[in-house]
Amino acid sequence: MKEFDYAAPRSLGEATSLFGGPRKALLLAGGTDLIVQLRAGRKTADLVIDIKHIPEMNEIRYDPAGGLTLGAAVPCYRIYGDGAVSRAYPALSEVAALIGGTQIQGRASIGGNLCNAAPSADAIPLLIALRATCRIAGRGGAREIAVEDFCTGPGRNSLQAGELLVSLHLPPAGKRSGSQYLRFIPRNEMDIAVVGAGVAVTLEDGVFRSARIALSSVAPTPLFVREAGEWLAGKPVNAESIQAAAEMAKVAAAPITDMRGTIEYRKHLCAVLTRRALEAAVQQAREDR
Ligand SMILES: Cc1cc2nc3c(=O)[nH]c(=O)nc-3n(C[C@H](O)[C@H](O)[C@H](O)COP(=O)(O)OP(=O)(O)OC[C@H]3O[C@@H](n4cnc5c(N)ncnc54)[C@H](O)[C@@H]3O)c2cc1C
Repeated sequence: MKEFDYAAPRSLGEATSLFGGPRKALLLAGGTDLIVQLRAGRKTADLVIDIKHIPEMNEIRYDPAGGLTLGAAVPCYRIYGDGAVSRAYPALSEVAALIGGTQIQGRASIGGNLCNAAPSADAIPLLIALRATCRIAGRGGAREIAVEDFCTGPGRNSLQAGELLVSLHLPPAGKRSGSQYLRFIPRNEMDIAVVGAGVAVTLEDGVFRSARIALSSVAPTPLFVREAGEWLAGKPVNAESIQAAAEMAKVAAAPITDMRGTIEYRKHLCAVLTRRALEAAVQQAREDR
């Protein structure tokens, strides 16, 4: 691995001025993607900036009226170890517990999962389904964008030079709502999703009040299937509606054939996983947390 300098700023201001400086710098949250990439020579840096000591990056703040603020560097184990977060966003807690294994979860962050922008990233479809937004800072100031607009290609995101992700914000889950992320992998753990489906629903008087569906591993970026969720809104909560939305997800998917699966296999999985994820989310919503 090429040598680099290491900095561990203690404030956001210090981090943005280092990151916006003249040296070729990369940010490190957990490092579970970055270190692998540096070691393989896929990325190089003169300076690696460790963001784990910045208070805003380490924050988990939940209140039922305001929702969840999740610092970009919060490691997965803190998410599924947080009782309030697990009760309010059980699917987020489950995603944090399925990324890698115990050692990876001790370091890996949901912010890093998003910034790495892999089409197969497990957290991103669920973040999209849960209407998460990104809080971004740079030397030019702060801005906010929806997670569905964040990834621009495999390994690419919409951060401009010198910008960093500070935190994610999830709106309150609300009554009669449920969410789920399901992935298919050939092994039980530590593998890349052949397909993943993240969904969130809110129910009202036997109909879907709203629904959102997003997929992983079936397009150059995590894929928001906006039209399937919009179509479900107002439809009765039954097997036919769910199956029709699952078929729409299948049609929207544009996967490739590779060693983990063919186009046809992946498209088939899109329908199966979307249907199962919707069924689970509906069940959760009916339990009226
Ligand atoms: C053994 C193993 C198993 C894995 N299993 C899974 C899995 O099951 N599912 C899955 O989705 N992934 C998996 N991964 C990939 C990886 O662990 C996840 O993507 C993880 O969430 C990355 O988080 P991190 O904090 O380690 O990111 P880092 O490696 O620190 O960062 C990832 C990228 O984002 C950039 N970055 C980080 N933070 C910021 C920020 N705040 N602002 C701007 N840019 C930033 C970094 O510069 C880097 O390019 C696995 C990796 C390994 C090594």
